[in-house]
Amino acid sequence: MTDISHIVKAQQAFFAAGQTRPVAFRKKQLRMLYHAVEQQEARILEALHADLNKCEYEAYLTEVGIAREEIRFALRHVGRWSRSRRVRTPFYHFPGASRIYPEPYGVALIIAPWNYPFQLTVAPLVAAIAAGNCAVLKPSEFSIATSQVLADLVAQYFDPGYITVVQGDVSVSQALLAEAFDTIFFTGSPGVGRIVMEAAARHLTPVTLELGGKSPCIVENDANLKLAAKRIVSGKFINAGQTCIAPDYLLVHRSVKEPLIEYMTETIRQFYSSNPIDHPDYPKVINQRHYDRLIGLMENATLLYGGAGDSKQRKIAPTIIGDVDWSHPVMKEEIFGPVLPVLVYDDLSEVIETVNSQPKPLALYLFTGSETTADRVLAAVSFGGGCVNDTLIHIATPYMPFGGVGTSGMGAYHGKFGFDAFTHYKSILHNTDKMDFPFRYPPFYNHLGLIKKVLK
Ligand code: NAD
Repeated sequence: MTDISHIVKAQQAFFAAGQTRPVAFRKKQLRMLYHAVEQQEARILEALHADLNKCEYEAYLTEVGIAREEIRFALRHVGRWSRSRRVRTPFYHFPGASRIYPEPYGVALIIAPWNYPFQLTVAPLVAAIAAGNCAVLKPSEFSIATSQVLADLVAQYFDPGYITVVQGDVSVSQALLAEAFDTIFFTGSPGVGRIVMEAAARHLTPVTLELGGKSPCIVENDANLKLAAKRIVSGKFINAGQTCIAPDYLLVHRSVKEPLIEYMTETIRQFYSSNPIDHPDYPKVINQRHYDRLIGLMENATLLYGGAGDSKQRKIAPTIIGDVDWSHPVMKEEIFGPVLPVLVYDDLSEVIETVNSQPKPLALYLFTGSETTADRVLAAVSFGGGCVNDTLIHIATPYMPFGGVGTSGMGAYHGKFGFDAFTHYKSILHNTDKMDFPFRYPPFYNHLGLIKKVLK
């Protein structure tokens, strides 16, 4: 544990020396990161295959490609983001001028989960570098191969005083949280998010919490069912359902339940064959504990499709279940695996009421042909972000903030929003020393009438 204090102290000294502040330095490091990812691509893809059986295409699409795009976008814009900005000044501060200076927080702690172990470590790192911070990265102990590749990559290309990876389990994470970081960026479960926030409170460290929860997917009776089926299946079963923003459960209008399920089962067969377990490209569950948990969640429900599992390979086929209500265990926790419960409704108001009675979701998906319906749901329900007539894709853009609300998280990142998460905006009023007005100083005499005219 003394090692951890040592690492943090070394980074504090690195940051204090001012090296990370010039934009030229940040760009150089971003280029280095891009180069490192390019050079190590084969090892990264291999590791993702070893940890989760992600095929090369899926691993590139959802991990390496997204990370590379994030680096390229930051490189293109970091110059502008880092510049101080003149803003308006109220007339009563005449002749002063106001500027906002983006300033790096200092030493950042980034804690990542195992489900997209590469992307969810590298994307916050890109933002930390762009904003001029040093960073300690703590990848998940469950995605062992990817965590090792990340540790090797960072050690090979970066000064440990600037960026370093600390591997280990909960005890290591807790030792890190005991240190006084300047900001903490945590991605993981709401339960651990609470622990992180408590630890941060001891040092009054600002936090960004990217958490999870149960994300609903609503299918109205006027939706394009065939397309909805395709997009739901792809969003739910990519990475075998181990996606924070995967549709957790379906709320389907009673009148379209049967055809939707039929289209979905057809799509599953098309995507993964009729024997998904043995499909070489179908991902596996991260560990035995989660495998057993997911198999358990199917109990006391009607199997509508799938249901097969192979404990040796730790694979569970894409599964749809019905006849569950909110008292069933599957509706009481984030599923985080390839099991999709289907609930039916008769009226959209029921849906709005149901979702609003639950903690605020990280994502919400709505399939409908009606803009009025979309407007109604968007106005009535609070959630992190989502899509109308699609799933997941709102995450893959640098132009929108990605984050949760309530128990699904606080703060956001991607593109400029990531830069903001690692930046303190310092407001400075530059005044003149060439003139002065007496009204602001005591004794105030009878200037009340005057000040009332100024501050109405
Ligand atoms: P987790 O919260 O168990 O672990 C995340 C990280 O926290 C790991 O590095 C782990 O070592 C560390 N950790 C675990 N317990 C800890 C403790 N008691 N004290 C300190 N650190 C601790 O999450 P997970 O199982 O790796 O990932 C699944 C969760 O993450 C799901 O809830 C999912 O929705 C969420 N998630 C959210 C996003 C997002 O972007 N919002 C992305 C991916 C996953």
